[in-house]
Amino acid sequence: MTASTTFGCDVANVVYERGQRQAFCGLAGIVWLHRKIQDAFFLVVGSRTCAHLLQSAAGVMIFAEPRFATAILQERDLAGMADCNQELDRVVAEVLGRRPDIKSLFLVGSCPSEVIKLDLNKAAERLSAQYQGRVQVFDYSGSGLDTTFTQGEDTCLLALVPHLPALPATERNLLILGTLPDVVEDQFTRLFTELGINTVHFLPPRRIEALPPVGAGTTLLLAQPFLGETARALQKRGATLLTAPYPFGVEGTLGWLRAATEAWGIAAERLDAVTAAPIARAQQALSRQRALLSGKRITFLPDSQLEIPLARFLARECGMELVEVATPFLERQLMAPELALLPAGVRLTEGQDLEAQLERLRTDRPDLTVCGLGLANPLEAEGLRTKWSIELVFSPVHGFDQAADLAELFARPLVRGALLQV
Ligand code: SF4
Repeated sequence: MTASTTFGCDVANVVYERGQRQAFCGLAGIVWLHRKIQDAFFLVVGSRTCAHLLQSAAGVMIFAEPRFATAILQERDLAGMADCNQELDRVVAEVLGRRPDIKSLFLVGSCPSEVIKLDLNKAAERLSAQYQGRVQVFDYSGSGLDTTFTQGEDTCLLALVPHLPALPATERNLLILGTLPDVVEDQFTRLFTELGINTVHFLPPRRIEALPPVGAGTTLLLAQPFLGETARALQKRGATLLTAPYPFGVEGTLGWLRAATEAWGIAAERLDAVTAAPIARAQQALSRQRALLSGKRITFLPDSQLEIPLARFLARECGMELVEVATPFLERQLMAPELALLPAGVRLTEGQDLEAQLERLRTDRPDLTVCGLGLANPLEAEGLRTKWSIELVFSPVHGFDQAADLAELFARPLVRGALLQV
């Protein structure tokens, strides 16, 4: 990036597109949610298509544990000829009979369950009463009619909000919202402790039995940008939302921690002292990836809602040139600190018109395109290097210690592409 680059994107310049979309539905969230919440089972009430989607999304993971399944609605169910609730109760009894370790069950709605208007909320209430004391049953929608890709995490966590215990009126806590791998959660906990913030909770928690408390003394910090509905529900329960960049890269992580320390009245000198060593480590580790990425051109297709924070990191810390940054939805308030850091004039798109976007991509021919799994192979066949956006959601990429790993995820396909051309 040249010294003359100016920063700050005006949302008035965002191009709004509507048309055919290509993205996973919210069922994809089960892939990382089931790994995080270790006593939970996710039961999709859907079709064979839903089962295949889940299998192919989970297939990119190496260590998938079987804590999700699909209760497949048959043609008789869809035609209204069978009592789906009876069948659902039978499947749930079978799952829970086999898995005494399961303490929470999520019934996940899909397009087929919505089309036949199967009331999973009522089913969850009924099953919660039936298994009271043994298993808590929740429901949420991962249907492609309601959600795309990362929104499944938002609908899942939103379903938990009414069940969070109340924070006593005299207490305060810092609540981190968004799935983080345990190793990253531990790193952040250590950093917050060193900074003097000792009461830190995470949503989702590792176990449903340890749901975090929320109340007027809660300060809310988002680790992922796609959780707007859950954030608003937590605010309704008294939490105060901090706006900050997201903890990707050195700059984002520092800004994110700073928002928490300012809210807690902690001196800037203490933040500097605590973060100096991890920042130095991260910058050194990043320098190798920066050499590979600097000057390379990148386009983000709209998929995960992580596009803007990642584009900011790649432009400012890795020297990449942003050709187009497209995001499925732009939550202005949650994204304001990130937009302020993007290079001015970058081509920003909200929504998708697939054909028009692919045309632009073919004209631009960037060095790297970040996209969903469905588009990656056809684009590779056209000679475009791609990065699957789903990897960015379930890999440990947050925080100082992961900054270089995050950059490497983008450098790897470029290195592989260069080797193939030799
Ligand atoms: S929920 Fe809908 S979009 Fe998602 S896999 Fe099932 S049928 Fe397809």
